Amino acid sequence: MPRGNGTGPRGQGGGRGQGKGRGLGGCQVICICPNCRKEIPHTPGIPCNSVSCPNCGTLMTRKN
Ligand SMILES: [Zn+2]
Repeated sequence: MPRGNGTGPRGQGGGRGQGKGRGLGGCQVICICPNCRKEIPHTPGIPCNSVSCPNCGTLMTRKN
């Protein structure tokens, strides 16, 4: 390339688009309330459908 002037080693820290807000990976499970659509992070070991929605008390269901 004729332009090898220092534009090269820059694309290293391009990891910006990945973490939207939290640095969590893609294996995060979400529980969603079928009634009011409230979403809460799934607690490992506790099935979503045994957790009540903090909003309306409906049993949550697994989103993904
Ligand atoms: Zn709810």
